Order: sequence, then structure tokens, then C-alpha cells
Amino acid sequence: MSIQVENISFVYNEGTPFESIALKDVSFTIEDNEFVGIIGHTGSGKSTLIQHLNGLLKPTSGRIIVNGIDITTKKDLKDIRKEVGIVFQYPEHQLFEETIYKDIAFGPSNLGLSDDEIEKRVYDAMKIVGLDIKIKDMSPFELSGGERRRVAIAGVLSMMPKILILDEPTAGLDPRGRDEILYQIKQIHQMYKMTTILVSHSMEDIAKLVNKIIVMHDGTVSLIGTPKEV
Ligand code: ATP
Ligand code: MG
Repeated sequence: MSIQVENISFVYNEGTPFESIALKDVSFTIEDNEFVGIIGHTGSGKSTLIQHLNGLLKPTSGRIIVNGIDITTKKDLKDIRKEVGIVFQYPEHQLFEETIYKDIAFGPSNLGLSDDEIEKRVYDAMKIVGLDIKIKDMSPFELSGGERRRVAIAGVLSMMPKILILDEPTAGLDPRGRDEILYQIKQIHQMYKMTTILVSHSMEDIAKLVNKIIVMHDGTVSLIGTPKEV
């Protein structure tokens, strides 16, 4: 699935004393099956940008076309939300069930699948992110930060989205945990051929994985190119 972002701008708290311009005239294209990195300093607008890609945030101006559909004017975004999966920067924001199993099954349980199919999706997703199926009945909040992040990734993966977006998936991990997660993301991209977008502070994390890098600076795209060019 492809994404075209055309001249989008976004202002938080528009028209209030707390108004802040987070995106300014951002444009880029992501083709089907691409693996794209978004990098930039803290506050440059990365998280704000990716939340536009499934319609969670609406741009103040400009438009976003996902798979040929203008999602900025579309009211019913249910289908887009199924296809564009986002693992948020703070995984706690998407873990709310009492067990790991239920958290990962939440997405597929709304897709009209049988219980067996749902179970298969959950077990497959746990395996890919390196979670032992034995822990499925534990609460996600009994886990370490890195394990919790794996649950959040599995929860999005179990939906089998066509576009997978991960916001700082290595934040707070030690070097080994970081390498494991990055390796698993690479495997996911290769196995499922999902269009994959990886947000990171760190060029080092993404340069070896992606075919294109979008550099954000102060709410604008300052550069787009291959890892070598950037
Ligand atoms: P980080 O690397 O720290 O995650 P980021 O590149 O993801 O940063 P954003 O979170 O998109 O940056 O923030 C971009 C700008 O928008 C910042 O100036 C930030 O203060 C502002 N901002 C972000 N979220 C909100 C919000 N909920 N309300 C008001 N302003 C916000
Ligand atoms: Mg962010």
C-alpha cells in the first residue's frame, strides 16, 4: 500500500494561547512495500506526522492519500485503521486488557475471524516478536518495558496491517534488546512485505534496515534520500 502526503500542516491547540505549529508544509511519497525511516530531533514532529497516516490527527491544511483514498476528507476511517497499524511511542497507551493474550487478540477479534484463527494470529505474532507463549495469561503490566513493547508490536501485527508504523520501538532498551527488536522488525518486513515505517532518533538504528530516510527538522521535511545520501 502506498501513501502520498501532500503539503500538510498541523497546529496543536489552534486559536488558543497554547497554539503550536507542529508540521509545516510536509510532503513525501511512500511506495508499496517500501521500508522507510523517519528521523529527527526531539520535538521535530515525527510522532505528530505518523498519527496523520491513519487519520488519528487531521491536518490543518493539505491532504493524505492512502492506497488512492483521500483520508483527510473521509469520515469513516474503520477500513483505513485496519490497514494502517501504528505501534505508539508509549506502548502503555495501547495495552488495556488484563492478559497479554487478550491484548494481542483485541485487534483480530474485530475482524470477523473464528476463535481458532484469532488464536493462530496471536501465537504467530508472539513468536515473531520473541515472546514465549507460556506467558500469555500474565498481565502486560507484570512485564519489563522491553517485553511490554513486544506485546504492543504483537498487538498491531496480529491485525496483519498492510502498512506497519513503529514509533521509537527501541526507546529505553539496552543494546541487545534494541538489536533483537530491529532484527524482528526486519523479519516482519521481509516475511509479510508490509510497507514499513520506522521512527527513530538514531540514524544508526535505521540506516542498515531502510531503503529511504525522511529527515524531519522543526516541523518540516529537511531531506529525503537513501541512507547513503542522508
Ligand atoms: P520525540 O522525538 O521527542 O518523540 P517528535 O519528533 O515525535 O519528538 P512531536 O511529539 O511530534 O515530536 O512534537 C512536535 C511538536 O508538537 C513539539 O513542539 C511538541 O511540543 C508539540 N506537541 C506534541 N504533542 C502535543 C500536544 N498533545 N499538545 C500540544 N503540543 C504538542
Ligand atoms: Mg515522538
